[in-house]
Amino acid sequence: MLSTMQDVPLTVTRILTHGMTIHGRSQVTTWTGEAEPRRRTFAETGERAIRLANALRDELGVDGDQRIATLMWNNAEHVEAYLAIPSMGAVLHPLNLRLPPEQLVWIVNHAADRVVVADGSLLPLLAPLLPHLRTVEHVVVSGPGDRSLLDGCAPRVHEYEDLIADRPTTYDWPELDERAAAAMCYTSGTTGDPKGVVYSHRSLYLHSMQVNMTESMGLTDRDTTLVVVPQFHVMAWGVPHATFMSGVNMLMPDRFLQPAPLAEMIEREKPTHAAAVPTIWQGLLAEVTARPRDLSSMASVTIGGAACPPALMEAYDRLGVRLCHAWGMTETSPLGTMAHPPAGLTPEEEWPYRVTQGRFPAGVEARLVGSGGDVLAWDGESAGELEVRGNWITGAYYGGAAGEDFRPDDKFSADGWLRTGDIGVISPDGYLTLTDRAKDVIKSGGEWISSVELENALMAHPDVAEAAVVAVPDDRWSERPLATVVLKEGATADYEELRAFLAGKIAKWQLPERWATVPAVPKTSVGKFDKKVIRRQYADGELD
Ligand code: ADP
Repeated sequence: MLSTMQDVPLTVTRILTHGMTIHGRSQVTTWTGEAEPRRRTFAETGERAIRLANALRDELGVDGDQRIATLMWNNAEHVEAYLAIPSMGAVLHPLNLRLPPEQLVWIVNHAADRVVVADGSLLPLLAPLLPHLRTVEHVVVSGPGDRSLLDGCAPRVHEYEDLIADRPTTYDWPELDERAAAAMCYTSGTTGDPKGVVYSHRSLYLHSMQVNMTESMGLTDRDTTLVVVPQFHVMAWGVPHATFMSGVNMLMPDRFLQPAPLAEMIEREKPTHAAAVPTIWQGLLAEVTARPRDLSSMASVTIGGAACPPALMEAYDRLGVRLCHAWGMTETSPLGTMAHPPAGLTPEEEWPYRVTQGRFPAGVEARLVGSGGDVLAWDGESAGELEVRGNWITGAYYGGAAGEDFRPDDKFSADGWLRTGDIGVISPDGYLTLTDRAKDVIKSGGEWISSVELENALMAHPDVAEAAVVAVPDDRWSERPLATVVLKEGATADYEELRAFLAGKIAKWQLPERWATVPAVPKTSVGKFDKKVIRRQYADGELD
């Protein structure tokens, strides 16, 4: 028997229409580095998005599911693009502005982007790429920046504000298939070529609803969220679409992502929530330790993308800011887990839950698979690779505009689950603890050492600002841990002391005997520890 329910497609168009009307008074505030930030209501943002869609169709001839790339910081105009492009049936493609130029070129050509909407401040990055971008016919430039960098370039150049001025404030939106492509992101390609993940309208809509649930970020129109996680990093973890759906005010840092302006933004604009990777929170902590600021408006922070060191969580607890750990991937939209403890516990009882990666929402099914392919128990002890499936988990990678729709990949099990490459355990009550990425695990004498456990223990030492542990080859044990540490200014701890500090917490055979002090841990394009670079530095003899 079929249901009697109406079959209304779940689309970004509906998020746009809902947000700009029902939550018309909510605001997108963009930091400008000047006395006053740029403030726009959701009503204005929605109207500008509609004018953008009209301009893209009528002036640039955008049609069907053409890909429109953005090369932008987090700002109001980027939110407009997030709403306009999918709503008109085109595919939004945020580009990671920190990728090496050759990877950006590869990605744009692979996606066959026809238009690039770019911040003026990023023209020095975009201009030299243009001769290599085979499919780009138009560049739309927004905000301050030297336009002469585009002189003589092949694509037609448009001024964002001129383009959307005087356009109609209504648009006859197409009735889209909810399964159609709405947006795409590429993984950063730590091994081999980057891989494209294409989100559907349905997946973005359902993911937005999940982000809004109290068991996830749970924000309302009384909140303001500081969106530090870049809009090119897994769609800013879904925050712009989710907040537009529920009227949460957005505070956008634009290019002012350094600790000092972030601290100023928080003190002046008083966001109640923020989202970013651990390195951002490490940097901000060092800043407010040196120059105290009031961060206390920020009641909760979503922290993920890499393991959150428990010591960092404790430090923010002392500032009245509660970090909530989340796990996800480009392939999972990204919300996979969030670490809210079960109800009814004391702060001490909550702690062991808070330091896990968290539990899965209803839209995400999970299993752990052992090395022999067997599905493992959720007993908090059996470690295996995490596999997931669900409504906002990708089932394939994009094949490229010129090739097949999907590209074959061993990231998917025979029965269609996503193999995450993350190793961990799940407790009987469903909390995931990741011990490592499969490629970062240290295999010493047939046993596994968790690099994350060593890092977390090291970062609890008061002299240690950051610590990254990688596997290095060893004649006897096959691999052993190399600990690279960044010491705080004026710190005096030596390797003996650090080793002794670890000794109480970590099994003796796992303690590193190789150490290096470094000025900074190398980071990936989205601010995670770049272990590939550390391994290469060691192999090249740079870390002795
Ligand atoms: P990239 O693979 O380029 O880093 P993603 O952002 O998609 O891009 O990375 C996803 C990976 O990041 C996960 O597979 C996992 O290894 C790691 N990760 C994300 N969140 C966490 C977390 N809370 N704890 C530990 N690792 C995490």
